[in-house]
Amino acid sequence: MTLTIHFDNTYARLPDAFFARQAPVPVRAPKMIAFNDDLAKLLQITPGDVQDMAQAFAGNRLPTGAEPIAQLYSGHQFGQYNPQLGDGRAVLLGETVGTDGVRRDIQLKGSGPTPFSRRGDGRAWLGPVLREYVVSEAMHALGVPTTRALAAVETGETVFREGPMPGAVLTRVASSHLRVGTFQVFAARGQLDSLRRLTEYAIARHYPEADGSMGLLRAVRDAQAKLIAQWMSVGFIHGVMNTDNCSIAGETIDYGPCAFMDTYHPNTVYSSIDRMGRYAYSNQPDIAVWNLAQLATSLIQQMDDKEAAVEEATEIVHSMPELLRQNWLTLFRAKIGLTIDEDGDLELVTDLLKRMAEGQADFTNTFRALGSDTARDQFVDPASYDSWAEGWRARLEREAQPIDVMAAANPAFIPRNHRVEQMIQAAVQGDYAPFHRLNAVLARPYDDQDDDADLKRPPAKNEVVHATFCGT
Ligand code: AMP
Ligand code: MG
Repeated sequence: MTLTIHFDNTYARLPDAFFARQAPVPVRAPKMIAFNDDLAKLLQITPGDVQDMAQAFAGNRLPTGAEPIAQLYSGHQFGQYNPQLGDGRAVLLGETVGTDGVRRDIQLKGSGPTPFSRRGDGRAWLGPVLREYVVSEAMHALGVPTTRALAAVETGETVFREGPMPGAVLTRVASSHLRVGTFQVFAARGQLDSLRRLTEYAIARHYPEADGSMGLLRAVRDAQAKLIAQWMSVGFIHGVMNTDNCSIAGETIDYGPCAFMDTYHPNTVYSSIDRMGRYAYSNQPDIAVWNLAQLATSLIQQMDDKEAAVEEATEIVHSMPELLRQNWLTLFRAKIGLTIDEDGDLELVTDLLKRMAEGQADFTNTFRALGSDTARDQFVDPASYDSWAEGWRARLEREAQPIDVMAAANPAFIPRNHRVEQMIQAAVQGDYAPFHRLNAVLARPYDDQDDDADLKRPPAKNEVVHATFCGT
């Protein structure tokens, strides 16, 4: 049986300036690792037999209707503008419309060099492919907007990073791969026709109700403000919030050295390349605003009345911090069981977080335990929790269903970094059982799955992963 994808491509119809036509570069010995049946159903994809799928998702044989392209973009990396990035190791096969009516991109990541590879080899190794597979699917199950993973294959080739590593290709699915950096590249080059075309395309594809480029800016502000608040509420640290990794559709994209926090501390950083802590946990809202300002700067280039555009764009960007705060407070209120908006809620939440940081409390387990007797055990000094809980219990008396609210807001399972690392180590040895187990458990993160309680445990001292390498 051959794999069938009903492609309906629009990006490949845009002018040549938007991309380079680039076929994936075949690999030696493709072997299927995983195929996401649920996602395939949503995408109305008919799976083929395993060998056929391995060939297709390794890029060795293009499914009918695919029109592979590498997309152009640029972006600010750690605050520095890089005038040309683009898909250096990915190709967009095309788009398909799901049973939900949503159009999505299907992209191979790790599929070989492209005109945008610069000095890179165009490849990915197994570790980051499995990390992205597990973490993006976990994010989806947690209810956080994200790109998704359709398939992972081994290539049978070696890639060289810190040492020789097994190569792999991830098939990624996204509402689109439009980034802030996609706008920046045309704005920076003064290619205003392309910029206008891109703006129209983005509006039509993602925000058909948006009125012009400032309407688009508002819509992206709203989507990003929602997304980043959700990251904060599950303790997620993206690690590389460069403008090229900031999705116009408001999805989490480009999983690199990302991680979920174990012990709560606002300054937590995992990425080994983030030496200044620019993308630390608590900086993420500010960075999202900074990124939106870069989008605003780009969009303004195409406006006839620049002065009016600057004024409107400034107002939109300046309104984002407050929006983020509101979204954040709504989510954190739910995490402590509150649905009614009362004065003092913000202080209650921030007081708990302060005590969690001082008490080295585990972020996920503390919130999950709030309704039970075990919450206080999460703190080095349980009395610190007790004194907070006194005021909290008094506040809860005015809430109808706080236990249910908390159970729906506080996951039992997150992809803990040490488990992700252990899973990768096992896979490199050919053992995919931990990978499949993580996927199965993380598909239901809000359900207590008692047989898998070990996956809730924070890392022991010797298991803590301090840095996640970008060696992607
Ligand atoms: P990322 O950090 O994955 O968002 O990548 C940043 C930029 O570097 C993008 O333009 C990527 O396409 C490019 N890139 C990353 N790794 C490679 C690689 N192994 N080969 C070629 N380009 C790469
Ligand atoms: Mg990227």
